Amino acid sequence: MNLKSRFLLLASALIVASSLASWVVFERIAERIIERWGANIAEIQVRYDSARLLQNIEREVGLAQQMSDSDVIQRWARQPGNATLKAAAIEEMERFRHNFADHNYFLALKDSGAYFYNNAANGFAGKQLRYHLDPNKPADAWFYQLIEQRRDFHLNVNPDEALGVTKLWIDVLLKVDGRIVGVAGTGMDLEPFLQNIVDLEQPGINTLFVDYNGAIQLYRDRRYIDYASFVKPEGQKKTIELLLDRPADRSWIRQTLDRLREGPEQGYRVETGFVTVDGKSHLAGVTYLPSIGWYEITLLDLDVLLPLATFAPMLGVFSVALLLTLLVFNIAIRRQIIDPIISLEAAMERVRLGDLSPRKPSPRSDEMGRLEQHFDVMASSIREHTRQLEETVRERTDALNRLARKDHLTELLNRRGMNELLAEEFQRFRREHRTFGIVWLDIDNFKDINDTLGHAVGDGVLRQIAASLRTCIRPYDHAARWGGDEFLVLLAPCDGDHLQGIGERIRRTVESAVETPAITVSIGGALAVPDDTIENILQRADDALYQAKDNGRNQFYIAEGGQLTRIS
Ligand code: GH3
Ligand code: MG
Repeated sequence: MNLKSRFLLLASALIVASSLASWVVFERIAERIIERWGANIAEIQVRYDSARLLQNIEREVGLAQQMSDSDVIQRWARQPGNATLKAAAIEEMERFRHNFADHNYFLALKDSGAYFYNNAANGFAGKQLRYHLDPNKPADAWFYQLIEQRRDFHLNVNPDEALGVTKLWIDVLLKVDGRIVGVAGTGMDLEPFLQNIVDLEQPGINTLFVDYNGAIQLYRDRRYIDYASFVKPEGQKKTIELLLDRPADRSWIRQTLDRLREGPEQGYRVETGFVTVDGKSHLAGVTYLPSIGWYEITLLDLDVLLPLATFAPMLGVFSVALLLTLLVFNIAIRRQIIDPIISLEAAMERVRLGDLSPRKPSPRSDEMGRLEQHFDVMASSIREHTRQLEETVRERTDALNRLARKDHLTELLNRRGMNELLAEEFQRFRREHRTFGIVWLDIDNFKDINDTLGHAVGDGVLRQIAASLRTCIRPYDHAARWGGDEFLVLLAPCDGDHLQGIGERIRRTVESAVETPAITVSIGGALAVPDDTIENILQRADDALYQAKDNGRNQFYIAEGGQLTRIS
């Protein structure tokens, strides 16, 4: 995997990890905000509902209380058999009937079981004593249980089978001198309550009321209402737990109900928590309504109230920001790191292939810029080093070449050097017809010198001959030690006179210059002629030299036109 992919992978992993971490934190914060918001909503809901529900109920409870406390009724309750007091009490109750919201009342006496009732239509005028309650009749159990429980008042949702309506009964104990003698109150049609308070078309908000046992009293779904709740044995009541899916939620709601009832009573204390209803998470707000002994529970479906789509723009912004970050990161990595590395790599490859031409200097001053500068300094020192090396090699090669063409003893050209010059001169002769001449000389009886005076003296003689040759030739002529005691001189340009003159000068110079021991040389000379070859011209000079030796030495012969002519 290349550097860029690795960086991108690392960046993506980091971004995803930090996004996940942010998401977890965001979710926590959002949950807390939603919970607080939910608590506020629940509290607002409670106030709102209390304004509508409690006002009505509290008014009815107050009226029922007034009715049971009324002197007229109290007097009659002390003497239930007194017909005058009874008539006055019924009259009083009729007055209350007009005041009750649903214009009905009831009053039942404990001792006789007498049950008085009149409705909004005044359907029982004159026959308010409807029937007598029977402790053995299950339908009358409510009355006896109410007295047994000694609760000052009680709300009871109960269907009236005789009338075919469901009523919310407000029951108040009728006490005479602190003694319970009966129950009085009124019934309110349940439907308007349900429609006004729990049937509201507020999507995502579900309100219900449960009694002090947690039994459901007012709820949109009538099937869950626990009618005649308080006469049912524990375990048969339809309680709030029925709505909750998870055991943990059920125990939480039970603890919350207990806690709220025990707490201080100023204002509405609302507790909130997440619960699962019908498989969906809801925020539950619970509050205790001490004036009626019920709880109000508000279930907020957050998926409806705060759908995930609300966060879609945020997710969109987040995703775009993520993509932009990756893009910018990618461009930055490429510009700042990858491109300079690729350029450096290319520069290194060029250096490897021998291209040492300088690069454009980097304008950057950061680490990458310094790296490029270091590389450029290194490349330029390689360049300088290579240049010096090449110069040294050239100088050494020149020196070697010179040495390869030089005779070490005499410092004249050697045979190889002379052969190269001969070839060049011969080409020029062919091209430009510039005539050249050869002078070939051999020391006379040199072996004797070596033998008698020693090899070192022989070497000295060879050097003296070389020195003589240098003085006799022109600046543009060349002298070489051809081998052993033989020397060759190339005269270019040259004609017959030059050949004769220089050859003779050499012979005489050696003769006069090298006296101890007395040294002479024999010389053969030849001039290049048309259609000549190097071999031929050398052969002619050699022939002339041979003739000089043969004729007694210390002589100079020229080979010319097939003739050998003695010059001196
Ligand atoms: P000639 O007159 O016939 O030429 O007789 P010569 O004695 O000179 O015979 P030749 O030319 O055949 O002998 C060449 C001698 O040169 C043989 C060898 O010992 C000697 N010689 C060759 N190279 C060197 C050298 O580098 N130093 C010395 N001291 N002697 C050399
Ligand atoms: Mg010789």
